[in-house]
Amino acid sequence: MSTTARVMTVYGTRPEAIKVAPIIRALEDSPLLESTTVVTGQHREMLDQVNEIFGIVPDHDLDVFAHGQGLNTLMAKVFERLDPVLERERPDALIVQGDTSTVAGASIAAFYRQIPVVHVEAGLRSGNIHSPFPEEANRKLTSQVTTLHLAPTPTSKQNLLREAIDESTVVVTGNTVIDALFHTVEQGLPITDPRLADLVAREAPLLLVTSHRRENWGGAMEGVGRALRHLAEAFPDVTTVLPAHRNPIVREAVLPHLEGLDNVVVTEPLAYGEFTRVMAASTVVLTDSGGVQEEAPSLGKPVLVMRENTERPEAVDAGTVRLIGTDQQRIIDEVTSLFTNEAAYAEMANAVNPYGDGRAAARSIAALEHLLVGGERLPDFEG
Ligand code: UDP
Repeated sequence: MSTTARVMTVYGTRPEAIKVAPIIRALEDSPLLESTTVVTGQHREMLDQVNEIFGIVPDHDLDVFAHGQGLNTLMAKVFERLDPVLERERPDALIVQGDTSTVAGASIAAFYRQIPVVHVEAGLRSGNIHSPFPEEANRKLTSQVTTLHLAPTPTSKQNLLREAIDESTVVVTGNTVIDALFHTVEQGLPITDPRLADLVAREAPLLLVTSHRRENWGGAMEGVGRALRHLAEAFPDVTTVLPAHRNPIVREAVLPHLEGLDNVVVTEPLAYGEFTRVMAASTVVLTDSGGVQEEAPSLGKPVLVMRENTERPEAVDAGTVRLIGTDQQRIIDEVTSLFTNEAAYAEMANAVNPYGDGRAAARSIAALEHLLVGGERLPDFEG
């Protein structure tokens, strides 16, 4: 084994950026590991916002994003543009995080070059290859070519063992999103949108909504828009805050339903520091996001998830997250209950941390050093 090793991290979307940022920072602090970063540019502006908070300047940008392109075109570009970088840099390991097409493409590209793949947030499974689409398939494909699986929770480790992954290659780290959340909340970054700053300062009742999942595009998302309109009219004192995802398909389905409502604030995607402050000030969170399902419980916020299944059962089991699907009337009923029934609210509003303790990056770096240059792993996160 050599005394130092070179590690390349590839990421493309906002949630990947948030979740790899604590690892990249810890890599930069490790005397044994050298860090190179590659962004694919899949969500460029949202990515830049995150890189800025964590002081990360990417070394390479593959610039694979184009509006309206299909998954196969995206994947083909990841292969074509990452391969020359791998050939030139010859890293000792490649880190990917999560389950996007960038992750599946980059990990297979590294495998073909016989570069060990390290998968962060390994082992999440919904059990349905079609939902979330294409993420469930992406994560299973990635597991097949991974050398070191950094599982966030004991449940995700069990999922991997059920698929006959060798236990000695799995380390339970906690989810790095909790490291990112703690780091960002500590900084107390400003809220730049004056409407949001005012709502937070007044401690106004807030319904925070995010929605972007591909399997909800179309009819389901129209229903979300109609449900939000109904709720805004039924609860004039509650403000709905909707940071609208950049995807035009999402915007066209939801935003027309919200026109002319004074108590609905639609914003551009918020910088992570601003978003976490609004989340911390919210009364209820309604979302189809993965990361938000992990963050909001640690802030003690009830989370209603607009999906039929989840690969994150831990907070559902703890009672702070409820899966409600996308039926318009169910959304109306569940949100109404949380704003009108104190007991129902109190039952869900408990701060729990099943996803991490803020030390996921430290465990990940120790596991990487163990793999590449020797040294001891840290004890697993126990959930
Ligand atoms: N987020 C953000 N600004 C926003 C909305 C979300 O910074 O306006 C953060 C959020 O805190 C979470 C991540 O983005 O960490 C979730 O991203 P997204 O919902 O796009 O993806 P998913 O988690 O579903 O993969």
